[in-house]
Formats: sequence, structure tokens, C-alpha cells
Amino acid sequence: MAKAYNPFEVAQEHVDKATKALGLDEATSELLRNPQREMWVTLPVRMDDGKVKIFKGFRVQYNTARGPAKGGIRWYPTETIDTVRALACWMTWKTSVVDIPLGGGKGGIICNPKELSDGEKERLARAYIRAIAPILGITKDVPAPDVYTNGQIMAWMMDEFETIMQEKHPGVITGKPLAIGGSEGRGDATARGGIYVLREAAKAYNIDLKNQPFAVQGFGNAGQFAATLGESILGMKLVAASDSKGGVYNPEGIDAQTLVNYKLANGSLKGFPGAKEITNEELLALPVTVLIPAAMENTINEKTAATVQCKISLELANGPTTPEGDKILDSKGVIVLPDYLANAGGVTVSYFEQCQNAQNFYWSLEEVQQRLDQKMTKAFKAVYDMSQEKKTNLRDAAYLVAVKRVADAAKLRGWC
Ligand code: NAD
Repeated sequence: MAKAYNPFEVAQEHVDKATKALGLDEATSELLRNPQREMWVTLPVRMDDGKVKIFKGFRVQYNTARGPAKGGIRWYPTETIDTVRALACWMTWKTSVVDIPLGGGKGGIICNPKELSDGEKERLARAYIRAIAPILGITKDVPAPDVYTNGQIMAWMMDEFETIMQEKHPGVITGKPLAIGGSEGRGDATARGGIYVLREAAKAYNIDLKNQPFAVQGFGNAGQFAATLGESILGMKLVAASDSKGGVYNPEGIDAQTLVNYKLANGSLKGFPGAKEITNEELLALPVTVLIPAAMENTINEKTAATVQCKISLELANGPTTPEGDKILDSKGVIVLPDYLANAGGVTVSYFEQCQNAQNFYWSLEEVQQRLDQKMTKAFKAVYDMSQEKKTNLRDAAYLVAVKRVADAAKLRGWC
């Protein structure tokens, strides 16, 4: 059985490694390995049966040296403060590596949204915002959707905040529906940003991606768009994809849009015609040029990493590779495009949403995509240059770039 990790301890290990490599002083290192602010809230919500149920929630503002905190709100039955801390920590490096003027945050409510009616969800969303309103705002902290939250929940949350403030504040939350201040291009932004990073990496390492086979683990929002955009932007050949119920494989190629339509119609990939059924472990071991982990954390671990054959791993999922898995991939020469660089397209377009809300003027889809391309291309170059200069892999280089920028900002502010 693969080892269980405390996600925040893993996050801190990465920070420690970076602060040491950068030669940062003790105070700066200590500042960067801890959240700046945490708010724990208890939320009474009246349920449909008339009884009041008490929910627990958190909001963590990990670091705001570079700007207001930014990060999603998760609704998850087994949510823990350490998961929220780890994710807020990663958001700090993610906004930094793509060089947007924001810090890192994350929120969570311990709940099972599958057991809540729409009315209960709305009351829970509003209760959470009432509780954390003192630390929210466009100049303080800007949440977004995450696991089991969506545009509708963001709309209720924004409305609650505006009701409290008695003013319009569309930029207080991103990931809103278009009709109330959302941005064009948010839907596929995570996968699209990753595909731009992959394109730049292939150029840097002289790998021709045209007609090359790729496999996608996890066929939800990120995975489905990665499959279609891998084909349409890079001309690659999708050969396999999987979801929690298993995967499908055809070395001759699978039309990505047909597979997306099949998944949407049937709820799973099982039974997709013209492809062989495979397990998730078998998918990771396929002879592909690019592997895209887009499912859950820790799927590439000490056991599965040994079987991986790809040249490039594009990490769209958060934390798909364990530290042991990483070492094995490194020793095999796999180019790992690390999660918080590879999947930063979503937060980048969230930032664009904030910019548009602040201007009260909205951009076309083409403008959003062009600006996203510029940001992701520049971010990859900064990380690649650092990896060349320091002779490190891209994950370590991404930490050096991101942590240094936050440390510089904290120093300039006189915090350390
Ligand atoms: P999603 O819920 O839409 O899709 C997840 C997919 O993974 C589903 O198809 C599910 O069946 C599959 N899955 C679950 N467990 C699996 C397993 N053990 N093996 C194979 N497949 C499995 O989620 P999403 O929004 O696409 O997010 C996927 C990953 O990308 C997560 O790690 C998320 O944190 C990360 N991410 C997403 C975004 C975004 O904008 N959607 C942004 C940044 C990071």
C-alpha cells in the first residue's frame, strides 16, 4: 500500500527545500513555511426538515506579500485544516510562478454536498460568507470554485457579500457565471494553460509532439479539455483516457470529442466502442510521449512511477506525484511539468475575471486566450531558465522562482 501523507507536511518540505537552496534567512524561511492567517468558523444552517445543523469551515490566507489572497472553496466530507493549509500554500506559489499580483488562500467546509438540497446549499454558502466577510474583499481575499462548488454557489456567495456591504463587488469572487461578471474562457482555462506549457516545453527540449500518442488519467473538467485541446492545438493523438471506473485504450487513436460526448452521455468511459478496457494503473504504464495526470493526488507513487514510460508528464491534477514517485520519474529522465505551473491557467483566468470586474469592461474570448498564452509561456520560460541555471528539474526550479518572488516581496515590505 502506498504511504499516506499529511499534505501540509509535504508542502512544508518543498518550501524548506526551496528556502534552503535560495539561502534565505531563518525569519523569511519560517514566515514562508506557515500560513499568515486562518479563520475557523462554525456555521448554523437551517435544514429543509426545520432542524438546525452545525457545519465547520475554514479559510486560510497563506501569504499576501504579493497581493490579496486567492484560492478556491472546497466542500468536502473529509476536509481537514491541513489539506486547506497545503492547498493555500500551493496557491501562493501558483500565483507567484505565473506572476500575477495575488497571494495564496483556500477555504473549505466539512460537508457532503451530495446530501444537500439546493436550498440547503444556498443557506450554507450564505452562512459561510457571513462568517468570513471580515477577511474577504477585492483587496483582501478573493475565493473561487473548487472541489464540489460551482458557479451557482459563487453567485450566492457574491450576492451575500454585496448584501452585507450594500455595494456591488463582483470581483470579490471569481468563477461566476457569465451573466453576473464571469469571464469568457474560464471553462477550459486550466487545460488550455497546461497545453500552452506543454507546447513550450516540447520546443525547449526539442520534442516533436505532432501525431505523438498521449494518455489522460481523469476525465473530468481538466482531463476532457486536455484531451480535445491536445489534439486541436498540438496535433497529438489521444490513445487512452480513464476515470474513477477505469479506462479505454486504442493505440491507433481515439477521437477526443467523441470520447467526451460518450462520457457525458453515459457517465463513464466503460463500453466505449473500438477501444480496449484498461485499468488506471495500466494507463500510467502505456508507451506514450505525454502522460496527463488530471485526476487526484498521489496517483503516481513509488509503485506506479516505476512503470511510467512517457517522456513528459503534464500535471493538471494537484499533487498527482508523491515525493517517492518524483524521485523515480527523475531518475528515468521523465520531464515533469509540475502541477502548480501546469494547472495555473485556471487561476490566471480567474485573475483576468477580477481585472474585468474592476474595469467593469469585458474582454473577448480571443483576448482572454491570447493573454493566457502570454502568461503561461512567460511562466514556463522563467522556470525553464531557472532549471538550466541551477541544474535542477522543473519542479524544483518552479519552487525557486515562486518562493523567491514571494520572499522578495515580503522583504521589500519589511516583514522579514
Ligand atoms: P473533476 O471532478 O471534474 O474530474 C475528476 C476526474 O477524475 C473524474 O473523471 C473522476 O472520475 C476521475 N477520477 C477520480 N479518481 C480517479 C482515479 N483514482 N483514477 C482515475 N480517475 C479518477 O475534477 P477537475 O476539475 O477536472 O480536477 C481534476 C484535477 O485537476 C484535481 O486534482 C484538481 O484539483 C485539479 N485542478 C483542476 C482545476 C480546474 O480548473 N478544474 C484547476 C486546477 C487544478
